[in-house]
Amino acid sequence: MKKYARFCSFLCLLKSFDDFKIMGAIKEQLENNEKTLLPQEIGTDYTFKRKIVWPNAIGFLVLHFLAFYGVYRVGKAHWWTALWALTVTVVSGEGVTLGAHRMYSHKAFKGSWLIRFVVIVLHTIAGQNCLYVWVRDHRQHHRYSDTDADPHNSNRGFFFSHIGWLMSKKHPAVISKGKTIDLSDLENDFLVMFQKEHYKFLYIIFAIGIPIAVPIYGWNETFINSLFVSYFARYILQLHATWLINSAAHLYGTKPYDKFMNPVENRLISMIALGEGWHNYHHAFPSDYRAAEYGVRYSVTTFVIDVLAFLGLVYDLKEVKGDVVKTRVVKKGDGSHPMFSNQSEAEVDPADLLNSPEFDDKTNLEISARHVTASG
Ligand SMILES: [Zn+2]
Ligand SMILES: [Zn+2]
Repeated sequence: MKKYARFCSFLCLLKSFDDFKIMGAIKEQLENNEKTLLPQEIGTDYTFKRKIVWPNAIGFLVLHFLAFYGVYRVGKAHWWTALWALTVTVVSGEGVTLGAHRMYSHKAFKGSWLIRFVVIVLHTIAGQNCLYVWVRDHRQHHRYSDTDADPHNSNRGFFFSHIGWLMSKKHPAVISKGKTIDLSDLENDFLVMFQKEHYKFLYIIFAIGIPIAVPIYGWNETFINSLFVSYFARYILQLHATWLINSAAHLYGTKPYDKFMNPVENRLISMIALGEGWHNYHHAFPSDYRAAEYGVRYSVTTFVIDVLAFLGLVYDLKEVKGDVVKTRVVKKGDGSHPMFSNQSEAEVDPADLLNSPEFDDKTNLEISARHVTASG
């Protein structure tokens, strides 16, 4: 009898071991499915109800009241203070557009140690969370554009893609897919990890302290004027300029390069956001350092990169070849391209189509490197 009981418990043990193996296999299969799901398979579940994160919502509301008051105080402040706030907005904006976006998120060019240091400082002044999180969200935005796995899915409307996503609980797809984004390059970058580690302290010094202190000690501005103009008004207005790229530049404009995606070309946004409004081109060819087909026109950021390249401070600038752009315009554009819109598919060299890597819809395109100059 004892032998029989022992045999039974041995069988049970084997059974539970088998169960464990089966469970493991199922889990692995689920994880693989999760990893291999394509953006179009994720889509947008319009029945999904978002939970509001009230502390964030109330925080943004208060910040907006303070910013409105800051705009009112511009009239009472020294005109240098307004000029200073504008200068801080544009210069620190480059930390976002040139630095976090084109250099770090898309590796559209490489920067010397000095440039990377300046970028981290300017990005901290802009105060749009640490660069590590910024880049993770942005790479995820490109990989899963306008699906539930995109942190600011524009299919959920203007408000959500503009600011609503920052005051809502993340969709489960954003959380699970966020873990699959490769950030190993950032993890090996001392400056990026230092900023991540000490972000709150650095924010207080660079985003609040220095912008407020300069007008006070520079031209005897009052603390109140400096606080409201150089921090609250400047900070919130700059955030809106960035957010417009996620909202308006995904909703209102033309699609000369790819009509099958949400991002659009929007000249006004390009002027406001230092050249980042040519968003249909940018999503079609994300690794192009110009983030537009036509270089420096309405793109302060591209002009700055060109100057830095001339000085040898940035190098290995990536630029998509004209024939690759043309092929995409003819194949997928909405007909609004000023040069290639009337061209029929027959006029495109078939070799272009065969050799064009953009048709596999990957974010990393094969690009001709130019400006291969100096340093590092
Ligand atoms: Zn976008
Ligand atoms: Zn981008």
